[in-house]
Amino acid sequence: MDTEELVAAVRDGELRLHELEAHADADAAATARRRLLTEETDADLETVGAYGFDAADAGSNIENALGAAQVPMGVVGPVEIDGGAVDGQRYLPLATTEGALVASVNRGCAAIGAAGGATARVLRNAMTRAPVFRVADVGEADTVASWVRDNVEALAEAAEATTGHGELREVTPYVVGDSIFLRFAYDTKDAMGMNMATIATEAACDVVETETPAELVALSGNLCSDKKPAAVNSVEGRGRTVAADVEIPGDVVESYFDTTPAAIVEANTRKNLVGSAKAGSLGFNAHAANTVAAAFLATGQDMAQVVEGANAITTAEVRDGALYASITLASLEVGTVGGGTTLPTQAEALDVVGVGGGGDPAGSNADALAEVIATAALGGELSLLGALASDNLASSHEELGR
Ligand code: NAP
Repeated sequence: MDTEELVAAVRDGELRLHELEAHADADAAATARRRLLTEETDADLETVGAYGFDAADAGSNIENALGAAQVPMGVVGPVEIDGGAVDGQRYLPLATTEGALVASVNRGCAAIGAAGGATARVLRNAMTRAPVFRVADVGEADTVASWVRDNVEALAEAAEATTGHGELREVTPYVVGDSIFLRFAYDTKDAMGMNMATIATEAACDVVETETPAELVALSGNLCSDKKPAAVNSVEGRGRTVAADVEIPGDVVESYFDTTPAAIVEANTRKNLVGSAKAGSLGFNAHAANTVAAAFLATGQDMAQVVEGANAITTAEVRDGALYASITLASLEVGTVGGGTTLPTQAEALDVVGVGGGGDPAGSNADALAEVIATAALGGELSLLGALASDNLASSHEELGR
């Protein structure tokens, strides 16, 4: 069917808005939807329809497609990184609507560069899925937990039969009365891995149900914990646990931030540590979510997982007149294959970082992306702390962001 026929079929009640792709190509279906929506709402969807990719390429990323939401993209760097998976200078594209954010992160990255670069490491790699099972009572729960601890190999065999890349690392039982949660943790290589882990865990759950009295209630029991603020992710990690640090000479701090190492340390202690503790926050940082969200949007990550990406602790201290600063992101869920990473603008952004597609060895590209994001987030922390310490926060937002 062509666009006119699609529009007529919806108007006549022969087709519903989400059924158009079954009768036309993806671009024609999106065009018809915009036409119908404009008629009904008076919204001008010309820009939403001015997207620069083949709508069919986004078929597995969206339903009821209208077009594209276009967000400005900037870039920070290059910044020097001595990492486990990155060695050298990298740029990082950031997509955001917050004026001054890219400039701020870039200033921090420039200071890191002037200090000789950051050190970054992925410390743990474990995407989790935690199904919940019903058992008769705590005695039975204990029996099931023991069986699971003794049979991780059998669970791994079932789980890994569903994937060519994923590896089951561990299964941790948690008992609450007559519920037992099994937190499965996978090395998902270059995939963020949420689909991979879910499919693999379903296969392992079949084994648990066959071999024990436990009955599966929900494949996700929220102890995973996906897209909700949760202490378990801050403590145990989820996706990549990644840290970056730098030591910046005092004169470099003064020239980039117009303040001293001691003033930045005091701002970090009173704001990021004491203030966050008083607030009951899970994030002991200035604005790590800003860098994480902008990097996620630019590179095709799952935006809802910025919730976990904000689980970061920033530390700072004076060392022989220099500023030592670090950031540790407990649960940064990133991939360079799968999900939104193959969308054209996102794939191009990953190429800018130098991590498009699968790495060699598998997992090294996602590790590298995590290290670059952690370094940029450290730059963002330094810049905001510097702006607060030098009393420049309001004026720089006034100048750049309005
Ligand atoms: P995916 O696009 O579902 O799958 C990625 C697949 O790529 C892997 O399973 C793997 O296939 C293959 N692959 C090829 N080269 C690889 C490499 N070098 N390293 C790792 N894998 C490689 O992506 P996903 O990361 O599993 O899931 C991300 C998607 O899940 C996002 O769209 C996200 O929004 C969505 N999501 C799902 C849930 C859920 O509950 N299901 C929750 C949150 C988000 P093999 O496994 O066959 O080897």
